[in-house]
Amino acid sequence: MTLTIYTHPSGLEHLTPDGHIERVERLQTLLDLFKSDFADVPVKPAPQATLDQILAAHDENYVFALEENQPMADIIPLDGGDTWMSPGTYNAALHAAGAAIAAVDDVMSGATKTTFCAMRPPGHHAEPGHAMGFCLFNNVFIGALHAREAYGLEKIAIVDFDVHHGNASDTMARRHDGIFYVSSHQWPLFPGSGEPGSSVNGRVLNIPLEDGTGSDTFRDTYERVVFPALEAYAPDLLMISAGFDACADDPSASMNLSPDDFGWVTEMLVRKTAPSTGGKTVSVLEGGYNLENLKNGVAAHLKALQNT
Ligand SMILES: [Zn+2]
Repeated sequence: MTLTIYTHPSGLEHLTPDGHIERVERLQTLLDLFKSDFADVPVKPAPQATLDQILAAHDENYVFALEENQPMADIIPLDGGDTWMSPGTYNAALHAAGAAIAAVDDVMSGATKTTFCAMRPPGHHAEPGHAMGFCLFNNVFIGALHAREAYGLEKIAIVDFDVHHGNASDTMARRHDGIFYVSSHQWPLFPGSGEPGSSVNGRVLNIPLEDGTGSDTFRDTYERVVFPALEAYAPDLLMISAGFDACADDPSASMNLSPDDFGWVTEMLVRKTAPSTGGKTVSVLEGGYNLENLKNGVAAHLKALQNT
């Protein structure tokens, strides 16, 4: 078996206010895509992450406050106007992190080679001690810490091609050994971090890109900077923070990639790391807010994960 998808219906119970770009329809679009175009790919239910697995990445005070403050009926703000909690949010967030855990387990056991975790809320902006940028828990990093603790992996690469810098993954990679975080992102743009000169050798590689960056520059940058860095690092496991908001016409950014670019970068990432990973890849959904481009970008991503 090559590719397995992980998701959970609780991802449809995380509600945001009307007009919010991170909305239920994002996940529904992908669930429809899996049924129509990827009917032969197994879809497994994502379990909840355990409290210990969450606490490996996040502060106790933060997690307990979230659990205690879950609303009974309303949708409440967690960080001004970006990140919201509805009655189903906390449970969805546990399953979103649990998807990454289950994907790591199945990849490590050999049950599957590549994986895609289709859940919301997303994760890469969720700092150790606070929610941020639509994110409650840093799903991909929780999965990486699980891979390190449960399987003793010493070198895990997280490549983040979401258009926004994953500030929380950056923060955590500076704190935790053995996890190399590589991000390409539009800069300046929310959240403002990932600026030129902010890389740390062997821990964080930040690649700011100008607004309007299109396919040629994106691919050239990965060829020149990202792939050589990954080949030199030789990770045991490849993880991907798969955001599709660097596509043209995304309401949150102004880069100009096409859906095909996500297929290309996925195939190249898996192939370039395969000598050390054996192809083991855990991909976790982050952003992507133009529904048509999200659907087409994820389709290209999944085809690449199937074919590598
Ligand atoms: Zn994003």
